[in-house]
Amino acid sequence: MTAKRGVPDVLVVGGGLAGLACARDLVGHGLTVRLLEASDGVGGRMRSDDHEGFVVDRGFQVFNTSYPQVRRRLALRELRLRPFTPGVLVHTEDGPMRFEDPTRGSRRLGDLRPGRLAGTRDLLALAALSGRDMLAPAGWLKRGEDRTTRTALAAAGFSEEFVERFFRPFLSGVFLEDQLETSGRVFHLVWRSMLRGTLCLPGAGIGAVPRKLAEALPPGVVNLGSPVAELTDDGIGTDDGDEHPARAVVVATGPGPAARLLPGLGLPDYRVVTTYYHAAPRTPLAEPVLVTDTRRRFLNTCVLSEVVRGYAPPGMSLIATSVLGHDQEGQEGWLRDALAEVYGTVTTDWDLLTVRTVPDALPAMPPPQPLSRTARVAPGRYVCGDHRATGSVQGALASGARAAREVAADLAR
Ligand SMILES: Cc1cc2nc3c(=O)[nH]c(=O)nc-3n(C[C@H](O)[C@H](O)[C@H](O)COP(=O)(O)OP(=O)(O)OC[C@H]3O[C@@H](n4cnc5c(N)ncnc54)[C@H](O)[C@@H]3O)c2cc1C
Repeated sequence: MTAKRGVPDVLVVGGGLAGLACARDLVGHGLTVRLLEASDGVGGRMRSDDHEGFVVDRGFQVFNTSYPQVRRRLALRELRLRPFTPGVLVHTEDGPMRFEDPTRGSRRLGDLRPGRLAGTRDLLALAALSGRDMLAPAGWLKRGEDRTTRTALAAAGFSEEFVERFFRPFLSGVFLEDQLETSGRVFHLVWRSMLRGTLCLPGAGIGAVPRKLAEALPPGVVNLGSPVAELTDDGIGTDDGDEHPARAVVVATGPGPAARLLPGLGLPDYRVVTTYYHAAPRTPLAEPVLVTDTRRRFLNTCVLSEVVRGYAPPGMSLIATSVLGHDQEGQEGWLRDALAEVYGTVTTDWDLLTVRTVPDALPAMPPPQPLSRTARVAPGRYVCGDHRATGSVQGALASGARAAREVAADLAR
């Protein structure tokens, strides 16, 4: 059966990474597609705004070049990517210590020396973990018993002290939880992707990524300002009462709206994160490096304008600092004090530019964590998004790809 005139084969609801990837692959299967996005732009959780001449991402995030879905879909050169310094600067009670990625060919170990950040046992464990995760086939890392990241790190031979000094502060910014309770399987895959790729930001902000994905779609596929209110027997209904039929509907809306549109859909808990954006008259650190804190007063902080100069207007600097949970009363004040200590500078002349809280930032991924779930939820109804795979750019894109494969296979029957 083919689509009736004017009726698309597939309606994709939501223009985040998952919806965009799904729409692109459906078009590749020769199907007619309409993507309905509620807001005024594509990208969902991955958007950037112009805020008084600063580029403000909707929550601090980094772009990893090694994700297979990223390499498959994007011409990286067009994103004008700017790298972070490989490794992180760890703020400890004993002052700043540098964790350098030894696999980058750097001859320096930074503070990865006995008596500093790591002991000999930790260095050996780090070499073994990194060698295995970087070189083993991904399929091998996906198999086997799953356990928490904390258990996986202990099993890999790391001392409790090194875990507390390096892994726990660093990974809390990756998984948006600070108990190391995320699946060890997911940790190994993320560690692999970090070793194999470059952490960076696009020259025009993180929102350039979904914009590039949308540019790859034929004209007319993406419809902005089109909130979907309900799924009907043969398609969807919009907020203004219009009904749009289609042979299949893919819900790619993110968790909250997906639960409303598909009652009974099982969803994981989601992690909340808040990013504080400060403008400063001079840079507090002349390096594009991510800073973590062993006292865990924040997840991470960095001078974004050192990564991409254009994130701040000339003569200004932009600092992003993220914390778990919602913005609390008085939090910005004590955070500013912590940042003064960490950067070793005065922060009283910094302006708080804006605060971005993302309530549904990342799905919780406790073990045992399935890395991919079917998109089919009922005849003609499908769902995709990071909650069907892993909470990451790779997971969202891969879930969209899986939904497209399942829709195409079903419609071909
Ligand atoms: C602060 C933060 C930091 C992150 N850091 C990283 C990182 O460093 N690395 C990494 O890999 N990943 C990171 N992530 C995760 C990554 O950004 C997400 O996993 C991914 O963007 C999710 O994409 P999605 O398409 O599943 O959902 P979403 O981005 O939520 O897209 C859903 C879309 O559906 C639309 N929509 C909702 N309801 C309706 C409706 N009724 N009708 C029509 N449209 C609707 C929304 O407007 C939205 O555009 C981070 C996320 C956040 C928030």
